[in-house]
Amino acid sequence: MSARDGDRPREACGVFGVRAPGRDVARLAFFALHALQHRGQESAGIATADGSHVTVQRDLGLVDDVFDEPSLRSLTGDAAIGHVRYSTTGANNWENSQPVVCGRDSGIIALGHNGNLTNADRLRGELVGNGASVSAGSDSELIAALLAAQPGNLLDAVCATMPLLQGAYSVVALTEDELVAFRDPYGVRPLALGRLADEGWCAASETCALDQVGAEFEREVRPGEAVRIGVAGTESRQAMAPAGPRLCIFESIYFARPDSLLDGQTVWESRHDMGRELARESGIAADLVVGLPDSGTPAAIGYARESGIPYAEAVVRNRYVGRSFIQPDPELRQQGVRLKFNPLPSVIGGKRLVVVDDSIVRGTTTRKTVAMLREAGAAEVHIRVSSPPILWPCYYGIDMADREELLAAHNTPEQIAELTAADSVAYLSLPGLQRAIGRPSDGFCRACFTGEYPIPVPDASDKLRFEGAGATVSPA
Ligand code: SF4
Repeated sequence: MSARDGDRPREACGVFGVRAPGRDVARLAFFALHALQHRGQESAGIATADGSHVTVQRDLGLVDDVFDEPSLRSLTGDAAIGHVRYSTTGANNWENSQPVVCGRDSGIIALGHNGNLTNADRLRGELVGNGASVSAGSDSELIAALLAAQPGNLLDAVCATMPLLQGAYSVVALTEDELVAFRDPYGVRPLALGRLADEGWCAASETCALDQVGAEFEREVRPGEAVRIGVAGTESRQAMAPAGPRLCIFESIYFARPDSLLDGQTVWESRHDMGRELARESGIAADLVVGLPDSGTPAAIGYARESGIPYAEAVVRNRYVGRSFIQPDPELRQQGVRLKFNPLPSVIGGKRLVVVDDSIVRGTTTRKTVAMLREAGAAEVHIRVSSPPILWPCYYGIDMADREELLAAHNTPEQIAELTAADSVAYLSLPGLQRAIGRPSDGFCRACFTGEYPIPVPDASDKLRFEGAGATVSPA
């Protein structure tokens, strides 16, 4: 995690695509992006296609900052894609906002991408070597350029390009007359298909975006699958043999919205059950269970139910303060937690607290939280983390921090308690996490906990192992 960030794993991006003749597709995309705003707050964009033109609007800022009535009215057509971005690769400048656009012989491709390629440097070098111009730093422009270099229709181009890509990608791509959604063979990032009540289909990073536009969840886009969303329905091609699935397990822990469905279970339920497991594994005598809103709340409720200790809303979140990473200077960032959370001394005073949080990255938030609760009069503060210790960085589109910065990579829970001034710190075990999610471990990427990376990673600066093979990683 970079120094400017708050102490959280950072979401990568959210994508949406829709074809709905006769509907205001730009407005549908706008509302869907609203539902996906938690996945990226640095830029937002929508592209529409009317059969002969592609129109794009994108800018830095939140969805509401980027679009207004006139701009939505100017985006016409019967198909649209949308994107919200958090920059894991490439600087946060306008050029890297999405949808990216790339010219091809027969027109234009607009594209939105969630994930991270692990062979981007090599692919970029090959493209440049072949005379292509690749100006922006993002993997997404690279994918668009590779698609543009392929002959034929968009679905053919996607199927020809996917075998070249290595890494995590859930993508929506649009030309004047085609809309295709596709997902890497490991299915690291989520992508769901939905059907609108009247004529129309859509694809979205999370089912909460389908709910937002009144679409019925149909199914997940399968790992390695490319789906053309046409007027008459969808056309599917298994462009690559599925290699997974290896869905990012952090989607269940933190990234996805609690009302989204992952593999048929709501994320809220999974998080609630993580809290239950945590209480079974590391219960402690206390007076109150407190969740840090909003991401820690379902697990805190689960912990309270399992332990019998009352749950209390003892920390109020100021919903109108931006995330701490947007603070402009270090001094203000230092105050980030206090700007976002305010404790209730009348609830906390003299109480032994179990504080449930979803993860610890560098520990800066935990330290500030403990200090804040002690100042408010807490007698004891026991930190319970509803995920296992994060020991390894992520190469698949989540900004987790380098290994040196990961607190748990170099400290035991006892040492972390000392460093954060907590009375105790305990994490959920990996088996406990799997029990809570209720699905087998081999369906997930868990590399930030285990160091077992399902997809080769770009460099060997850390000592890593391929999943199951125990081999040393070589550069991709
Ligand atoms: S390394 Fe961790 S954050 Fe990254 S994709 Fe795998 S589980 Fe998700």
